[in-house]
Amino acid sequence: MSELISPKPGVDRIELYVGGESKIDGRDDVLKLSSNENPLGFPDAAGAALADAATQLHRYPSSDHAGLRHAIAETHGLDPDRIICGAGSDEIIAFLCNAYGGEGTEVIHSAHGFAMHRISALAAGSDPVEVAERERVVDVDGILNAVTEKTRLVFIANPANPTGTMLGGNEVARLAAGLPQDVILVLDGAYVEYVEGHDGGVALIEAHPNVVMTRTFSKIYGLGGLRIGWGYGAKEIIDNLNRVRGPFNLSELQLAAAETAVRDTGWVARCRAENTRERARLAEALARLGVACDRSEANFLLARFASEEEAHACEAHFQSFGILVRKVGSYGLPNGLRITVGTAADNDRVIAALTDFRETQ
Ligand SMILES: *Cc1c(COP(=O)(O)O)cnc(C)c1O
Repeated sequence: MSELISPKPGVDRIELYVGGESKIDGRDDVLKLSSNENPLGFPDAAGAALADAATQLHRYPSSDHAGLRHAIAETHGLDPDRIICGAGSDEIIAFLCNAYGGEGTEVIHSAHGFAMHRISALAAGSDPVEVAERERVVDVDGILNAVTEKTRLVFIANPANPTGTMLGGNEVARLAAGLPQDVILVLDGAYVEYVEGHDGGVALIEAHPNVVMTRTFSKIYGLGGLRIGWGYGAKEIIDNLNRVRGPFNLSELQLAAAETAVRDTGWVARCRAENTRERARLAEALARLGVACDRSEANFLLARFASEEEAHACEAHFQSFGILVRKVGSYGLPNGLRITVGTAADNDRVIAALTDFRETQ
């Protein structure tokens, strides 16, 4: 390849995103707990709506997503004109970086934060600035101290992935209040629905025109394979994100399924209750087996081992039981394994494998 052809600065610094593993050679009983997917699947009605929409594949989809935006707005009590929909919340993160980042700007992310915050910043030409955490919790003072006149965006996930930890409302409010008004605070709310009574920070967004949230259908709604997410914030910001959005970024299949899913509040309540119960049972088993673990508010636990070697040995042991979990060395947590909370039967399998690991060590 000619040396004259090179990408814009930053692109070559992007480490390719590696998703959770999904296969083990020679096994057909694989339990995939590596991508924080919903073990209960997705609402049946969402699948039916998708099949219905599939009769109209010759038509271009809606470009303003009015149906889905109104369904989201009605369900969550929001202004439909301040909602933007994308191909997963990943695309909303990219819109934010493309519209507000760029060469000469800085984007702050947390040390153990979600990989796409950094990747999207680099893709937009911004310099990502990593801020250390305090015992795997986002450090508000650290972030405020890292702000310079070049800072345009600050990303935090709350609850966070892969730690599962969460900042309290007062801490998030302190962060929002402490940032310059020309810096956008992005609250990545991929796991908000797993926290009883949490709305992702709507009151903060109403109080601060520089705070936005991103949400997804990939986690509690069980539609990760379909790629649908959304964002909410001040009208001016959402208008600018729409300027960098492709007009047909979502298919009618995605829109129909998401519109049906978001109205299914019973689904969310049921999945949250099951997750809360099973997460507690799994956390208890980890504690009993002497595996360290922070309190998680999401649909996964971050198990911490004494060393990287022990974490890798445990991961291999899980695989010998047909179970896939997530190594998180690339998140600066080499001793950790992230385990998605499954069904009761799934978690029985995890606990049996971990017990066996402890006994055979
Ligand atoms: C899973 C996840 C997302 C969701 O990404 P989608 O593109 O909506 O599938 C976003 N942020 C965090 C922190 C996540 O863990």
